[in-house]
Amino acid sequence: MEMLHLFASPEQRRRWLEPLMNGEIRSVISITEPDTASSDPTNLQTTIRREGGEYVINGRKWFQTGAQASECKILHRHGRVQRRRRCRPHRKHSFVIVPLDTPA
Ligand SMILES: Cc1cc2nc3c(=O)[nH]c(=O)nc-3n(C[C@H](O)[C@H](O)[C@H](O)COP(=O)(O)OP(=O)(O)OC[C@H]3O[C@@H](n4cnc5c(N)ncnc54)[C@H](O)[C@@H]3O)c2cc1C
Repeated sequence: MEMLHLFASPEQRRRWLEPLMNGEIRSVISITEPDTASSDPTNLQTTIRREGGEYVINGRKWFQTGAQASECKILHRHGRVQRRRRCRPHRKHSFVIVPLDTPA
């Protein structure tokens, strides 16, 4: 909710932040990966690439608390933004809002 409050567009706020604050839905933070030491987020390997009007996310995640709850509707998916690969390690990553019903 804090990230949506700080960074979301008016449409994203209406669609996700308001129902979260009303307790109608839940969200999940999706950071940890099975193949990397995820306690240091600079290790994370999932990539986020913009393609036309869409984001393509490649990578595996696990330990997403609450992801199986029926009220859970969105993931905050953490990943490496490729166009910034020359940045310092702590500035290479971002989050994408992923509705849970997005096809894989
Ligand atoms: C109950 C529970 C709920 C969770 N919920 C979520 C969630 O909602 N979303 C999500 O994304 N993740 C979640 N996690 C995952 C959690 O955030 C990660 O397990 C944690 O960040 C550690 O990452 P890792 O498992 O990859 O362990 P690693 O990073 O592989 O660490 C393993 C061990 O090695 C140590 N270690 C790692 N790097 C170093 C180093 N450089 N030097 C010395 N020691 C080191 C660590 O301290 C640890 O003891 C959850 C975990 C638990 C247990």
